[in-house]
Amino acid sequence: MPEPSPPSGGTCAAALREALAKPLAGDDLTRAEAIDLLETPAIAAELIGAAGALRDRAWGRTVTFSPKVFLPVTNLCRDRCTYCTFRKDPEDPDAWTMTPEELRTWSARGRRLGCKEALLCLGDKPEVAFASYRATLATLGHRTTAEYVERASRIALDAGLLPHANAGLLTFAEMARLKEVNVSLGLMLENVSPRLRGRGEVHQWAPDKEPARRLRMLREAGELRIPFTTGLLLGIGETLAERVDTLFAIRDLHRAYGHVQEVIVQPFRAKPTIGRSDAAEPTATDLACTVAVARLVLDPEVSVQAPPNLSPADVALLLAAGLNDWGGISPLTPDYVNPEAPWPHVAALGAACRAAGHRLRERLAIYPAYIDRPGFLAPALRGGVAALAAEAAAGDGAAEVHAP
Ligand code: SF4
Repeated sequence: MPEPSPPSGGTCAAALREALAKPLAGDDLTRAEAIDLLETPAIAAELIGAAGALRDRAWGRTVTFSPKVFLPVTNLCRDRCTYCTFRKDPEDPDAWTMTPEELRTWSARGRRLGCKEALLCLGDKPEVAFASYRATLATLGHRTTAEYVERASRIALDAGLLPHANAGLLTFAEMARLKEVNVSLGLMLENVSPRLRGRGEVHQWAPDKEPARRLRMLREAGELRIPFTTGLLLGIGETLAERVDTLFAIRDLHRAYGHVQEVIVQPFRAKPTIGRSDAAEPTATDLACTVAVARLVLDPEVSVQAPPNLSPADVALLLAAGLNDWGGISPLTPDYVNPEAPWPHVAALGAACRAAGHRLRERLAIYPAYIDRPGFLAPALRGGVAALAAEAAAGDGAAEVHAP
């Protein structure tokens, strides 16, 4: 915990303690209260306690993860976010567009290792920027990356996996097609501040990070009734108020359409090869307090997640702060977005959760509440979801059984 300091946002500590009781009583925090809670280190312990209590009420002491295989369909990208090491140009020796055969092989290996989710994660619209990639797509029989992702999703389905594509900005029509072969889709909102698109900011060279365009995709996913994953990226030059505004935007979209199944709170991690190599990373307390405010701002049924490989020493702290999910963990493939951060062994994570008073169990890439909610799961995917849900239930507790 940081050194106590007086509230900086204008609200006294006593008033903030009163505000902390509101979500537990079913009332909303105001924007000003949420900002003051984040800006007031003196209240951090109470903030974390309130968020943990709300999580206990909504989700209990079961914390989940999704066993996944990460399929980086292509690491070419037309954007240039200054914190990114994933994207490559076509002439880069590490540039890679997976072939259908590679997708098949990796999916089958993942399935054999117990994976149930295929995370298709890739750069944004490289066909707009690179003629050589357009030629690659044409060789594969496709015009757009979204078309190829649809094919990759079918390959993963054929291997017995449930696809979840995070393919950058998609149109309404593209999402409608992908819904037929994906149990859920994802797009990190990251932050709603247009300021971060300005000169010298992280998204200056990333037209697909225009917040209005990402908000439109989130809204259209809601109109299409697609179970959706989104989230915040912390430490990219945003203010604490802009984090809160991002949470409120997600909350409002979920209240309008009921489709946001989970929100990832992801810290920026510095890497030697990026433009922001010397930028400060969010501290553990900063991350935990943001998880807590997310828990208190978002409706209780929305899952709050943080990637365990980016905060391996902070499992207990994040659980205390109201987290209820660790996201996808792969026994096969690295985190291609943060390759320096290995996934935890499920057994070790299970032991850490148990030591903190929680029980780790598997979930699918579609949360249970969305499986039977009318219109959210394509009928053709129902059989696969039922089969893997049964398999997950049969293996329930394995993480605890095998924990050291
Ligand atoms: S973060 Fe995503 S959109 Fe930005 S450069 Fe990397 S791959 Fe492209």
